[in-house]
Amino acid sequence: MSGSDLSAVTSRRVTVLGSTGSIGVSTLEVIAHARETYGADAFPLEALTAQSSVEALAEQARRFKPKLAVIGDASRGEQLKNLLSGTGIETASGYDAIVEAASRPSDVVMVAIIGAASLEPALAAVKRGATIALANKECIVAAGDIFRRAVAEYGATLIPVDSEHNAAFQLLNFDETHAIERVTLTASGGPFRDWTSERMAAATPEQAVAHPNWSMGAKISVDSATLMNKGLELIEAHFLFSLEPEKLAVLVHPQSIVHCLVTYTDGSTLAHLSAPDMRTPIAHALAWPRRMSSPSRRLDLAMLNKLTFEAADARRFPCLGLAQDCLRTGGLAPTILNAANEVAVQAFLGRRIGFLDIARVVEDTLSARASNGSGVPRDVEGVLDADRQARDLAGAICRRVAA
Ligand code: NAD
Ligand code: MG
Repeated sequence: MSGSDLSAVTSRRVTVLGSTGSIGVSTLEVIAHARETYGADAFPLEALTAQSSVEALAEQARRFKPKLAVIGDASRGEQLKNLLSGTGIETASGYDAIVEAASRPSDVVMVAIIGAASLEPALAAVKRGATIALANKECIVAAGDIFRRAVAEYGATLIPVDSEHNAAFQLLNFDETHAIERVTLTASGGPFRDWTSERMAAATPEQAVAHPNWSMGAKISVDSATLMNKGLELIEAHFLFSLEPEKLAVLVHPQSIVHCLVTYTDGSTLAHLSAPDMRTPIAHALAWPRRMSSPSRRLDLAMLNKLTFEAADARRFPCLGLAQDCLRTGGLAPTILNAANEVAVQAFLGRRIGFLDIARVVEDTLSARASNGSGVPRDVEGVLDADRQARDLAGAICRRVAA
């Protein structure tokens, strides 16, 4: 493929899992832009799925005309059916129907569900050898080697959408992996970058989700505030690119313009820059290995004036250190870390525990599980089992902390 004819790209059939979330909406904006730019039939949609926002899903379905729309919350299935009656769009409901939607033939599956709930639908798409545009990081953190082995076994293609990993994917020379000295992921530092621990102890969910640069879903926004997001991303990078933990680093970069730096053994450091706008990595993933137009904001470096970098403060942000420990420990440690964090973040968003309790709950869950022997997951069932047990334990720890 070469030249300006992008028909082989724009004819790709797409499924969007989690279409009503921040990444899902951005994906549909990229597709709307492609339809305006390249023709109304660009990126025909196979399926859109959402968990509970039934009206938003129906509106997307009417506009983008997928063959199928699925609502995860089974009690809203009837409502979805009514909202889409007469459109010819098939509807379904329940978690299994989301997994089923991922198994239906499409070229690219955007995995934009939040949390480890994305694991089973993502694997269903992997098993039919689809191209997986992976925005979700929790499934690769929870199921690392198993997920990676499945991608290889079924001949699926994995394109990272998480901005730092998409940047790394663009910068890494996979023919010269011996010469990769260091991969540095940048972190904005989140809304509490300058806050003392005392001040963070009283932080509210509203303050934690008010991210300075990115507009994202609530869970990942809280993860950005604790720096757990960057910890999960180190684990994600380890599994995506087979990089040893020692080669992975974090640098705080408050402007979120440089997303990743790759240093080679000859001393060259390559950087990827773009405005903090997820529509850039989404467009890259949908068009790969070609390039296409996206509606994302463009960089104006003269206006920005300066880019700054600083070390991450592991003392004030203990979640980063916990994730780094789990990366080194391997086995089920990342699975437990992720599950405990999902539970703790929900408890924080529900105002049942404080901001600093998130790290405490994760740490206590890890210690309790480690003393039971954390082991190595053999298969997806093993991962799901460890995930469930860690959630139960983290839930009990949250209740203890809240009491
Ligand atoms: P979000 O909360 O805005 O949206 C989540 C989507 O998943 C929604 O469509 C929701 O209906 C659906 N969903 C929620 N729970 C579900 C469940 N149990 N089963 C099935 N579907 C469910 O989240 P987001 O910010 O768009 O993030 C999505 C994923 O992308 C996360 O894993 C996040 O870490 C990753 N990511 C997001 C950004 C960003 O800028 N938002 C950047 C990088 C990576
Ligand atoms: Mg990221």
